[in-house]
Amino acid sequence: MIHFKPEVVPSDICKISPFLRIIISEVEAYFIENQIGRVLITSLMSDHVGDRISKTHADGRGCDISIKELDELHQERLRFHLNSIHGKAWGTRPTDKPNIPTRVALIHGEGENKHLHLQVRKNINLSIH
Ligand SMILES: [Zn+2]
Repeated sequence: MIHFKPEVVPSDICKISPFLRIIISEVEAYFIENQIGRVLITSLMSDHVGDRISKTHADGRGCDISIKELDELHQERLRFHLNSIHGKAWGTRPTDKPNIPTRVALIHGEGENKHLHLQVRKNINLSIH
């Protein structure tokens, strides 16, 4: 089951990119398969009320998920799994790193702030998947 931090507007899940929604569903499936517990979305289109958030999130192409309940091995396996499936067709890379593979999942932050950042690119073309 998917849960939302109080600052997140749950109905935004209906407004985000369907490609991002598929990836969130895969995270949920991974949690169920591995009996990890609830999926906690900590940021979707809006973040903490009044805070400035990234354009990617505001666009409905970014999502943050808490990984507090995952050990390091699961964090790495989940990130690798999502990027293996969707990184090539739906992923992004920094403009200053044109040679690295595109990806949809990154581990961001440290300690309490550590989270799984999911991101899909603009103008996805279904026929290349
Ligand atoms: Zn994020």
